[in-house]
Amino acid sequence: MEAISYERATDVAAALRAVREPGAMFIGGGTNLLDLMKGGVARPSKLVDITRLGGELDAISTLPNGGLHIGALVRNSDAANHPLVREGYPLLAQALLAGASAQLRNMATVGGNLMQRTRCPYFYDTAFSACNKRLPGSGCSAIEGHNRSHAIFGASAQCIAVNPSDMSVALAALDASVHVAGDEGKRIIPFSEFHRLPQDRPDVDTTLRPGELITAVRLPPSGFAQHAYYLKLRDRASYAFALVSAAAALQFDGTTVSNLRIALGGVAHKPWRATHAEQMLVGRPLTDAGLRDAAAAELREAHPQRENHFKVTLAERAIVRAVNVAAGRSGHANAGVIA
Ligand code: SF4
Repeated sequence: MEAISYERATDVAAALRAVREPGAMFIGGGTNLLDLMKGGVARPSKLVDITRLGGELDAISTLPNGGLHIGALVRNSDAANHPLVREGYPLLAQALLAGASAQLRNMATVGGNLMQRTRCPYFYDTAFSACNKRLPGSGCSAIEGHNRSHAIFGASAQCIAVNPSDMSVALAALDASVHVAGDEGKRIIPFSEFHRLPQDRPDVDTTLRPGELITAVRLPPSGFAQHAYYLKLRDRASYAFALVSAAAALQFDGTTVSNLRIALGGVAHKPWRATHAEQMLVGRPLTDAGLRDAAAAELREAHPQRENHFKVTLAERAIVRAVNVAAGRSGHANAGVIA
């Protein structure tokens, strides 16, 4: 048995001080960290409880520029059901409600959702000694093993795991930013730079510096309230991680697509912006042929694993379906949608 000390921080400065100790980790809702600790994957020597920091970390509010502030400690269910999110950023509400189960959404925080670790089974099962994410330099059991759920974009020879978050896929499409505080002050990380590809350091999931605390996620004013849709494709209807998901958000100028965002989940170590498809579709009317071509072009650079060639077709069709539903050209298709 390993002793773990516990400290409840009452403000951000105290939390930053408390986590300086070697082996210390922040704990919010604990929905991922406690699983990792029970399995022996995470072994903190000290837990710094940040759930009582309060103030802006617990708030959802409109920013002076018309954007949205979501505190890092807001629970996933509270964010999904907040009127400012439901009405202004329906893509985010849909993605949040597609994640996990109601019980987990009631506990999990927005900041914790950003920090959740891959669901690669070899990462969680310490009986497998080879996992570069868990034990750097040990190898990767998934590359020659079961890799049906793994990456088709951005993988490395060190790791082929995917990011499991639904919320993060919507935040990538919405061009969110992550606000953090650390010993050297506050900084803002563009969402596209927050999660990283595995490269030769798969043990590092994000660009957070040691000891930094996520304080908020902020969204720009345009939430694509009229045309947005999150499609999650998974092995069962609830409480399952995405095999592939697609977040689509559009704006029209008459019949021309004036702005379009597409992000994919379940395909890479970070939410994957489908920029090729976006560029092919903006500035012209949306057509079936154009949409199919754009989706196919996006997937042309995919590198599937031995067991997941199906993800290429699935992702292509997910883009087409999500954009069509977001544009109002097709009916809703999955249970993650707000009625
Ligand atoms: Fe570990 Fe990544 Fe390989 Fe999974 S894919 S076994 S997380 S190194």
